[in-house]
Amino acid sequence: MPGKPSYKTKAIVIGRVNFGEADRVVRFLTPEHGKLAAVAKGVRRIKSRFGGHLELFGEVELMLTEGRNLDTITSARLIWYPNQIASNYDRLGMAFLIAKAVDRLTEPDHPAAALYAMVREALAALDSGAAGALFELWFKLRLLETLGYRPELGSCMICAQNSPEARYSFSTERGGIVCASDSSPLDVPMSALQIKFWRLLCDYPYVTISHIDDAAALAQQTLYLCDGFYEHHLGSQFRPTLTGESA
Ligand SMILES: [Zn+2]
Repeated sequence: MPGKPSYKTKAIVIGRVNFGEADRVVRFLTPEHGKLAAVAKGVRRIKSRFGGHLELFGEVELMLTEGRNLDTITSARLIWYPNQIASNYDRLGMAFLIAKAVDRLTEPDHPAAALYAMVREALAALDSGAAGALFELWFKLRLLETLGYRPELGSCMICAQNSPEARYSFSTERGGIVCASDSSPLDVPMSALQIKFWRLLCDYPYVTISHIDDAAALAQQTLYLCDGFYEHHLGSQFRPTLTGESA
């Protein structure tokens, strides 16, 4: 079979499942290869050369050898690990939500550099203490944005009206805001402040948006609206859960 026999990549661990007597199949997000599953041989032995280098949510530098079905990890070096996530139930739940969403939405052999950078940024924010509705809303809007589902928040999706006096509602069906005369009973009213807040969430890193006045309250008010849109595009299986890792 043609192709490179071995290669190197940076990767974030997004899932692990035991395999055979002492091995484990590890799933990664990588910038150049998208989702990647590979075997870590002997990783569950006490004296494994992988040591603690393949922990969930860690960023690693991998050397791999191509295999017929799965590639084999020949070396793994931990570059970065979010130490503070495991000690907090809420943050851990969000980290699993990130890993599951990425696992579900990415494909092997599809470059995912923007998604990789966003996921790395989200895990770093969690590690620095981000949590709650504000983080969840920010992550979901950034994920939608990165995958090409950014909601239209500038002007009415039907008549393109864009006026500070107009009243707008959010339409999940249409994927953005609509003015009062174009809205249907299913659409949910959104204040000018809430719309502006969402625009900022789509465009700025978490560290910036966490300084916005009333950010936590605005997130509490609008998270359910984003959930409807998120599930419309990405499916309902991405709620926070702690069952992401099989033992
Ligand atoms: Zn309109």
